[in-house]
Amino acid sequence: MTRVAEQDLTRRIATRAVHAGYLGDPLSGAVMSPIYQTSTYIQEGLGKNKGYEYARTRNPTREALERNVAALEGGLHGFAFGSGLAALDAVMKLLSAGDHVVSGENVYGGSHRQMTHIWSRLGLTFTFVDGGDARAVAQAVTPQTKIVYAETPTNPMMRLCDLAATGEIARKAKALFVVDNTFATPVFQQPLQFGADIVLHSTTKYLNGHSDMVGGMLVTARDDVAERLGFIQNSSGAVPGPFDCWLALRGTKTLALRMRQHDASGRRIAEWLEHHPRVQRVYYPGLQSHAQHELAARQMTGFGGMLSIELGDTGFARRFVERTRIFALAESLGGVESLIGHPASMTHASVPLEMRRRMGLTDSLVRLSVGIEDVEDLIGDLAQALADD
Ligand SMILES: *Cc1c(COP(=O)(O)O)cnc(C)c1O
Repeated sequence: MTRVAEQDLTRRIATRAVHAGYLGDPLSGAVMSPIYQTSTYIQEGLGKNKGYEYARTRNPTREALERNVAALEGGLHGFAFGSGLAALDAVMKLLSAGDHVVSGENVYGGSHRQMTHIWSRLGLTFTFVDGGDARAVAQAVTPQTKIVYAETPTNPMMRLCDLAATGEIARKAKALFVVDNTFATPVFQQPLQFGADIVLHSTTKYLNGHSDMVGGMLVTARDDVAERLGFIQNSSGAVPGPFDCWLALRGTKTLALRMRQHDASGRRIAEWLEHHPRVQRVYYPGLQSHAQHELAARQMTGFGGMLSIELGDTGFARRFVERTRIFALAESLGGVESLIGHPASMTHASVPLEMRRRMGLTDSLVRLSVGIEDVEDLIGDLAQALADD
């Protein structure tokens, strides 16, 4: 189990992004973490090794990434996985049959699918509530509740969970508070500071930022939780390869810089869309019109590049997503390139229709991941795609 150095936590986030977690390479002095593409390590004698025996258990490239992301979140221990959903799988393995989880209903579609189609079958029970309503979360807690699971902002409705209030509910229930911080990133929101026990990431998204790998990460500041997560990571074995870890690590170095641009362009485009006559509603926490704008300003330091728009007409929405030329029609988000998606038929197709309706996820909702291209070009692209024939 690796641990973040104290010194890394005293520095500001852009410095942590570049430097935290790399201990240097004693062989060559390489400035950047080498890719240790190996499955095993030579032992000098029986029981005599350098601390590395087999790469499912430990790999120096993976450890550099784990310490880097842990430092970014202000945590002490990081655990890398082969995907965000593999990271969620490891979290759920902290529980035993009969345990109960309270989860936001508007979590990532794949997270919801894993909970309802895999873990429910294996004896965990779930109550899904509006994670933006702390009273509803509190009411759903039972004596069996072991995890309170939140995503904020949510995908794709951009609804917020009050981290401080929900963390307090979990603490009183002696349940772990687990927060998926994929959308906000540690640059704009650090859930551990609001009482979260574990932060989850799909590093596939902003942390890597270049849409060239799939990965996940868990971060905690608690030694006892880290002990158990390390055991699960090694025992279940859903670890990423060293090359993917290296790609993610290359991505996190520019995270603070990229997020500044995602945020600046996200705000510009959200405001522009809000004034467009064909757009009925814009869901973006940075807008005054967002129902939880005040909460957003309290727990976030920026709002990023994710936003959704209600077009009110399914045919028009379908036409729109197929007409953009810079915004590419694709699943996923958080890369340097702008993407556009239709949640009802793409990312959230596995969420039951009735549940989609309840949270406002209509067939005419479109989600944008605003990249770091020139914002005037992006607005021009959206303008031509929204224009009447
Ligand atoms: C993509 C995503 C996940 C799942 O991560 P994978 O890397 O695709 O397994 C979980 N949560 C959120 C918010 C995501 O966007």
